[in-house]
Amino acid sequence: MILSAQSPVPWFDDFVGVAYRYYDLRMNVVPLFSDRKTATNLWHDSLRWWLDHSIKIRFVEIGDDYWFIMGADSQHPQENLSFYKVLPQSENYERFKNGHGGEAYLRLGIYAEKFLKDVKKDAMCNCGHAAEDHDKNDNDACLYEVCNCKKFNSFQVNLLKQKKTITNIEFLDESNVKDDSLAWNCMNANKFSKSK
Ligand SMILES: [Zn+2]
Ligand SMILES: [Zn+2]
Repeated sequence: MILSAQSPVPWFDDFVGVAYRYYDLRMNVVPLFSDRKTATNLWHDSLRWWLDHSIKIRFVEIGDDYWFIMGADSQHPQENLSFYKVLPQSENYERFKNGHGGEAYLRLGIYAEKFLKDVKKDAMCNCGHAAEDHDKNDNDACLYEVCNCKKFNSFQVNLLKQKKTITNIEFLDESNVKDDSLAWNCMNANKFSKSK
């Protein structure tokens, strides 16, 4: 098989989601993995060969969801991948949209879910109350009467150190997708071709 720069880059969506975090004074875009080895391998094989100035991220809002779409030119085109994921619009997404200022770091993150037995007493639950305010004799439910949290649960994101700088970030809607080659290719490959 002959591979050239013209070969279509495969689409990859086997990750958990995307986190948006302030870190190192800049917003970070963090594709999340539940397994460290998968993330480090992916960085090693594909992402580290990306040319920073060629990295593009596109966000296409459709209804309450958005498509996260990311691609770049690579020094090793045969190992290259483009990323996409359909995700619900969230507060963190909105914060990134309003706050990125045209630049961000790209890092991979390891997502770990934590339960009451795993954490210190001041760890925060997703309900906004600390671990010590949850009752391990009552199924780890929150003790605050006003809170409807039935079980302590929090998640922790560990960022890999390696990073890339992204300076090409655009927010689109369905009507202007066709003017953007990366978003258009993604929608063609993953949406239009699969809908009936
Ligand atoms: Zn809770
Ligand atoms: Zn609570």
